[in-house]
Amino acid sequence: MGILRNMRELFGRLKHSKPEKIYCPRCGNPELQLSSSLDSWLTPGKYVCEKCGYVGPIIMELEEDKENV
Ligand SMILES: [Zn+2]
Repeated sequence: MGILRNMRELFGRLKHSKPEKIYCPRCGNPELQLSSSLDSWLTPGKYVCEKCGYVGPIIMELEEDKENV
């Protein structure tokens, strides 16, 4: 059955790749701190890079499937 196979592939993929792969767009630092500021009701969250000082709501997820979209 196609559905069952898709489910297995989905779970298999989730196991292999972590759900969150976030990198700093400036220096590529993978260790970003999620700052929960008072603006959290405006923005879902800001990421702070302690290396280069970048602050922004970036979400860089490296997923191959999204290249087609
Ligand atoms: Zn950085």
